Amino acid sequence: MKEARFPFSCPICGRKTEYLLIELKEGAVLTCPFCKLSLTLHGHMLEDVQKEIKKLKANVTRKNSSKERM
Ligand SMILES: [Zn+2]
Repeated sequence: MKEARFPFSCPICGRKTEYLLIELKEGAVLTCPFCKLSLTLHGHMLEDVQKEIKKLKANVTRKNSSKERM
């Protein structure tokens, strides 16, 4: 099974790094490989990430269910 990844945009350099969904939990430290910024995931940033992850998951579910119907 393919592991789900989430592209996280660095607030400093704006480049995206893909993290495994299991890595993106409260208190996780994300280090941007481009500008070496370290971010601790918490508060509204964590909420934003969780919202985006939910959207990604909803898209996947929708795709799968439409396949089943056809
Ligand atoms: Zn960066």
